[in-house]
Amino acid sequence: MSSHNGSSNGQVAPDEFPPPVDSQREFIKRGLDAEDELIEVGVAIVGGGTAGLACANRLLQLLAEDPETMERLGEVPVAVIEKAKTCGGHNLSGAVMRPGPLQELFPEMTREQWREEGFAYGEVTKEAVYVLPTGKTKLRIPTPPNFKNHGNEVVSVSSMARFQQRQAEEAGAYILTETSAVQLIVQDGRVAGVRSGDKGRGKDGEPLGNFEPGTDIKAHATVLAEGCWGHLTGAAIREFELGKDREPQVWELGVKEVWKVPKALDRVIHTLGPWPLKLSAKYGHVGGTWIYPMQDEKTGEHLVSIGFVMDLEYADATTSTHDLLQQFKTHPLVRGILAGGERVAWGAKALPGGGYWSMPKLSMPGAVLVGDAGGMVDTVALKGVHHSVMSGKLAGEAIYHALARGESSFESYEQAIDESVVGKELYEVRNTRQPFQKGFVQGAPLVNLMMGTKGRFPGGRWSWHRNDARPMFIGKTKDSYPKPDGKYIFDKLSSVFITGNATRDDAPNHIRLQKHVPREIAETWRWMCPAGVYEIPEDAPEHGEVDVIVNYTNCVQCGAITAKGGRLTTPEGGDGPLYQVL
Ligand SMILES: Cc1cc2nc3c(=O)[nH]c(=O)nc-3n(C[C@H](O)[C@H](O)[C@H](O)COP(=O)(O)OP(=O)(O)OC[C@H]3O[C@@H](n4cnc5c(N)ncnc54)[C@H](O)[C@@H]3O)c2cc1C
Ligand code: SF4
Repeated sequence: MSSHNGSSNGQVAPDEFPPPVDSQREFIKRGLDAEDELIEVGVAIVGGGTAGLACANRLLQLLAEDPETMERLGEVPVAVIEKAKTCGGHNLSGAVMRPGPLQELFPEMTREQWREEGFAYGEVTKEAVYVLPTGKTKLRIPTPPNFKNHGNEVVSVSSMARFQQRQAEEAGAYILTETSAVQLIVQDGRVAGVRSGDKGRGKDGEPLGNFEPGTDIKAHATVLAEGCWGHLTGAAIREFELGKDREPQVWELGVKEVWKVPKALDRVIHTLGPWPLKLSAKYGHVGGTWIYPMQDEKTGEHLVSIGFVMDLEYADATTSTHDLLQQFKTHPLVRGILAGGERVAWGAKALPGGGYWSMPKLSMPGAVLVGDAGGMVDTVALKGVHHSVMSGKLAGEAIYHALARGESSFESYEQAIDESVVGKELYEVRNTRQPFQKGFVQGAPLVNLMMGTKGRFPGGRWSWHRNDARPMFIGKTKDSYPKPDGKYIFDKLSSVFITGNATRDDAPNHIRLQKHVPREIAETWRWMCPAGVYEIPEDAPEHGEVDVIVNYTNCVQCGAITAKGGRLTTPEGGDGPLYQVL
């Protein structure tokens, strides 16, 4: 593996150093505890994000009209299990949303009322798309079809989840916040519920004074709404072979800031590079940015959502989405918008980028996958919120109808997704992004052709290769990151600080990876992690294997590490960030 100078630069890929995890043995529990030791619910929804809460709300709307089925589901017909302190605490998006699915879910509400509820910030009326040849110049281009946002709504998904939580609680949902679902319970070949995590364990897993053991939560139906590559979703995909004959999933990482600004921005802006990315195919850089206006209806404040999204297919280990966002902010286009303003929020999150061909089978005996857990993001348009709402709604309908008829299969949900806006939109862009894996410049003409023909030409099924299979080299991307000044350009640690991250210093480590790896792999993790979790000791050798220090209490649970050779598992319930407007 090492070349003559002891360096493996450009020759080792993260998947050669897989995380020490056996998900089927560790994350699947075979059989339920005795009846008097468990909690029984009708439908258990894992994840109180947009998708999970849409499912809870739709189920409760239907159950309200059918007291008999409601009664049969017992004292807790619908339970939502959410690891954050409150729903919304771990949710992050751009986020310009296509409004249709949310309007369908709550038909009695107007968009004006969304804004009064505090999660929506106005309709998009103007948009601009730029190519950035350099860090000082810009070229406006006609808006490509995928970036047409006229009529869409700017929202905050963390605020929207809090709104959906209020609606669900009023309708009778039992919301267990600060609770991680740590195991999927499989009994007689069927998902029978989930187990919640223990609380109050020390660094080495030892029970502390406040120790509370987890509990089996038995359910007639389980909905995995865990977002991007969930912990139990991954185990379910293996256990029920849901990824068979599909393409592997690939990933993107987004880092976002919200700024309070003195002057209102009147349009949605996207930039497509190439600056500040490298054009050479060997870097594997593909990414872009957004700047969205957010007008706070209640306070009258002008806010701006700004973010950078990177495909995790890149090969330069020194690629850092957080630092690329800081670099993007040095462009005059951005300075002009943020000037005189103040950063009020920061966060990071990964998203599934494989689209149609990478979606796993969405149902299994006893359970379904919704939203990002089912890989439903259209990354060509950077849109997943409306698909999450729609899939949650359709899952709620399929589960309700099956339970009302006394049936046990939820397979009708798969067909409902195929025939819905989710299936149709994802099918149209099914091959669009794969050509970028050849490199940005090489792939762009094919991407344009595919967009122009709505995926008809070149047709067929375009494959993806796994992000963690790409050999990494230590390149020069890091050389142009700006130095933090704590006012306009920020480092990672002060950014994590403003997320409200409250992980106990003596909590057990929830990140799994090998801790002695070639420097290229360690550098990949160090630069990639937006929260600065990984460190390499200063006296580590320049070439060959090095130790990796894992400061896991800083983790904001973005999930990116799972794409590049590690594994994020669930922390203790309540740990992690507490996002408010992301
Ligand atoms: C940077 C970025 C920009 C984006 N921009 C846009 C945009 O502009 N427009 C758009 O439409 N879409 C956008 N998307 C996509 C969109 O945000 C997602 O598709 C959508 O928010 C996913 O919702 P979800 O409910 O499926 O998952 P999530 O919002 O991730 O919710 C999952 C929830 O499950 C909880 N959870 C996970 N595992 C467990 C467990 N085991 N136990 C308990 N709780 C658990 C998490 O804490 C979380 O609250 C963007 C995404 C990103 C990352
Ligand atoms: S440790 Fe991993 S999951 Fe946590 S913030 Fe860093 S990259 Fe994301």
